[in-house]
Amino acid sequence: MKFKSLKGTRDVLPGESHRWQYVEQAIRSVMHRFNYREIRTPVFEETALFARGIGELTDIVGKEMYTFTDRSETSVTLKPEMTASVIRSYIQNNLGEQLPLVKVYYLSPMFRQERPQAGRLRQFHQFGAEAIGGQAAAIDAECLALAMEVYRTLGVTNMSLKINSVGCEQCRPAYRELLQGFLSNVREKLSAESQKRFDANPLRILDSKDEGDKSLTARAPLMKDHLCKECADHFVELQSTLLAQKIPFEIDGRIVRGLDYYTKTAFEIVSTDLGSQDALAGGGRYDLLVEQLGGKPTPSVGFAAGIERLLMVMDQAKLFSGNEPHPFLFLAAADDDGRAWASKASMELRRAGIATELDLLGRSLKSQLKEADRQKADYVLVVGAAELAKNAATLKQMATGDHRTIGLSDLAAEINKLSS
Ligand code: AMP
Repeated sequence: MKFKSLKGTRDVLPGESHRWQYVEQAIRSVMHRFNYREIRTPVFEETALFARGIGELTDIVGKEMYTFTDRSETSVTLKPEMTASVIRSYIQNNLGEQLPLVKVYYLSPMFRQERPQAGRLRQFHQFGAEAIGGQAAAIDAECLALAMEVYRTLGVTNMSLKINSVGCEQCRPAYRELLQGFLSNVREKLSAESQKRFDANPLRILDSKDEGDKSLTARAPLMKDHLCKECADHFVELQSTLLAQKIPFEIDGRIVRGLDYYTKTAFEIVSTDLGSQDALAGGGRYDLLVEQLGGKPTPSVGFAAGIERLLMVMDQAKLFSGNEPHPFLFLAAADDDGRAWASKASMELRRAGIATELDLLGRSLKSQLKEADRQKADYVLVVGAAELAKNAATLKQMATGDHRTIGLSDLAAEINKLSS
């Protein structure tokens, strides 16, 4: 019996893990520059947290969660997104008492039982950030700038930032009625999915991907044109901050997060290099969530971004320089004396910080040299009894073919001189 990974899951193989590390490092470095600190939460939580924190009516909670009952009869769920977990932790650990504005980021696997396709997996990875504890549009702008800066740092260019405002408890109810009034004329012609949303979540009909729905709602009223003064001012301030920070954006009145506790800013970053799954990142302000999860009223904003999709666009744009990790030095043994020496020397070199490889399979010198080449070692040093007698050996630089004689007594120091 041969086992295979489950549908919608993928291995990150040794040949590609350096790409992940490169991207993760860039994310961490941008987060650090914006003074966001990492938060790590458990992979699973009580199911009720997500039901409350994401919303019973969402696709995620309705049909995508990996939920099971554990041996102590607790219903647990593998995290399908991070915000609910972050807020749970914020409340549980009183993080707000230590800092007025808590700025956190994460890198984490997520789990959703969706239909797998290009760019859509069942275990995927997200990076994201949450700024918990402030109302100001400047915080929304910083959060957006942060996401955009990750892409800019990595060289991703073919994308756009779309922003919208979804209003608040003051202005949304009247708009919702207005929208339902408009939609009631076309209700029967909407897709089955949108018809289901008519009562519970009519705003989501506006971001339906169905072509019929799109044309039926082309003239629908949009929230951004019906904002109360506070939300309108907030939206204008967000735009002027983004303009001042030279962050290009478009206004798109159809970007909705669609849940009651989402307020004001909603945004998406989409790539022009991806097919139907073109969203790189999404986020927005959620001023009511902390309260909904049992905390004090705490306005907050955040985003989440897919790492697999980021890797896909970077691959297409050939943004990986091809610098795979490789040994700096390959110790090739010409005979048994050389082999015994290489075993000792490799340890000293590795301790001295030099990435060193040697033959552990008892291969001939010829195949060791082939191996050094395949592994793209920068240098090869061939050592046998003759070299040990002279206490010197020939070091070959693989890229240029240059040879030079090098002393063996303080090898690590000699090699370190080369790499500096
Ligand atoms: P969401 O939490 O649904 O707003 O998603 C935020 C980002 O995560 C999306 O823009 C995608 O880049 C990524 N994402 C969401 N779901 C998946 C999935 N099933 N597979 C891969 N990436 C995903």
